[in-house]
Amino acid sequence: MTETIDAPAAVKPINHWISGAPKGGTSGRSGPVYNPATGVQTGAVDFASVEEVDEAVRAAKQAFSAWRSLSLARRAELFFAIRELVHERREEIAKILTAEHGKVLSDAMGEVTRGLEVIEFCCGLPNLLKGGMTGQASTGIDVYSIRQPLGVVAGITPFNFPAMVPMWMWAPALACGNAFVLKPSEKDPSASIYTAELLKEAGVPDGVFNVVHGDKVAVDALLEHRDIAAISFVGSTPIARYVYETATSNGKRCQALGGAKNHMIVLPDADIDMAADAAVSAGYGSAGERCMAVSMIVAVGGVADPLVEAIKQRIPSVKVGDGMEASSEMGPLITREHRDKVASYIGDGGGTVVVDGRESCPDEGFFLGATLIDDLKPGMRAYDDEIFGPVLGVTRVDTYDDAIKLVNENPYGNGTAIFTRDGGVARQFQMDVQAGMVGVNVPIPVPVAYYSFGGWKASLFGDRHIYGPEGIDFYTRTKVVTERWPDPATSKVDLGFPQTR
Ligand code: NAD
Repeated sequence: MTETIDAPAAVKPINHWISGAPKGGTSGRSGPVYNPATGVQTGAVDFASVEEVDEAVRAAKQAFSAWRSLSLARRAELFFAIRELVHERREEIAKILTAEHGKVLSDAMGEVTRGLEVIEFCCGLPNLLKGGMTGQASTGIDVYSIRQPLGVVAGITPFNFPAMVPMWMWAPALACGNAFVLKPSEKDPSASIYTAELLKEAGVPDGVFNVVHGDKVAVDALLEHRDIAAISFVGSTPIARYVYETATSNGKRCQALGGAKNHMIVLPDADIDMAADAAVSAGYGSAGERCMAVSMIVAVGGVADPLVEAIKQRIPSVKVGDGMEASSEMGPLITREHRDKVASYIGDGGGTVVVDGRESCPDEGFFLGATLIDDLKPGMRAYDDEIFGPVLGVTRVDTYDDAIKLVNENPYGNGTAIFTRDGGVARQFQMDVQAGMVGVNVPIPVPVAYYSFGGWKASLFGDRHIYGPEGIDFYTRTKVVTERWPDPATSKVDLGFPQTR
């Protein structure tokens, strides 16, 4: 584990994107962007001031009225063009992700593909935005509902999915006729600028999609801006809670998705090899930097010893290396600070260290090898915290009831999974478990784009899950129209309360 080589000669400036063009920052503040595989700084991203955020919101506000008035047929046509461009350029996008986030290229391609599915769902926008209609609700009276956009909406996104999570937000927001301001993670901001260029190329009018980079200053400016109607946030739980409380106290609609501690229960009747493959894939994929990563294995009864052994045997063949290398399966962590924090759980976080990832990582960059810690229990730091790295914990319990109690008493409730051959127990599990996304012999149950994504408890603040049908609900407001076209000859004054019968 070596030190970062700071500020080499070629540090790329990364600017905001306002009114359809790059906009150099004027605040005098910026942040470093690294290639996590080498530890070398590759970029410097502008941090927006309150005034720059206001400029982006004004651009969005100006673009909104024409955008919302566009026919649904034309908006859908634009979405098909966006879909084609993202699909065509998926490798370029994936390379940008690998260069700044560190995830391996195949994983980055997976991220783009899952984001693309959300865009494809949004291509059906004329159907998604249909209202309801009741003819002859009362004599001569028809009633119908219509969906309308909210106005200018903002998205604040985390470092771990720099393309897909913004797509979860801007695609349904724009499909519904809103104008958008994105504040991406300052750690890997280039994908959002590439997205802005693609949207422009696809024909999205200037100002409909804007990007401001930055830190708490930019986030607070969005949360407090009176012309922003709604905030979507994805990130860690403390910031999600803060964003939700601040946005709603400023009168905004808000969905704020937080952190996770995802438990995978393995019952004694499970196929050990299948469960071990799933645990290694879902625990160490993207170096564990996924909110749907499996971070705790709950081994029930006699399954524990053979399962821990099967996972341990698989770890040496996980190829850790630069994500640009085709042979790499697991890349580095996002920053040196984060790598060091994750490593601090090994040994000092409790439990029995079975495999120590500090012993098997490349010298350069922010790498940490796959780590396995057995015998964890609630109350231990490595059990209680969302580690967000390649550290898989195991806890041992005697019964299914003990296992479900652990999951339900955990403060987080994002994803969870059960591995078993018993259909009856699996069915009971999906009834009992307190989590938003449930897998049965599926370790990462991220819903397909025509369902919605979201956790329970401290994994989500707000009433609406993200993308899918709930995403359309979130980015629209309904209106009900009661209408009649009377014959003027029948008109009379009637002060009674309107009745339907
Ligand atoms: P983070 O909370 O540090 O940052 C998220 C966003 O908030 C970034 O844009 C960041 O600039 C901003 N931010 C950071 N500190 C802030 C502050 N004090 N005030 C205002 N804004 C602030 O999260 P991260 O480290 O970028 O991402 C990892 C976290 O995101 C993990 O906890 C992970 O579980 C979570 N996550 C959740 C989901 C989900 O769907 N539930 C998906 C992806 C990631």
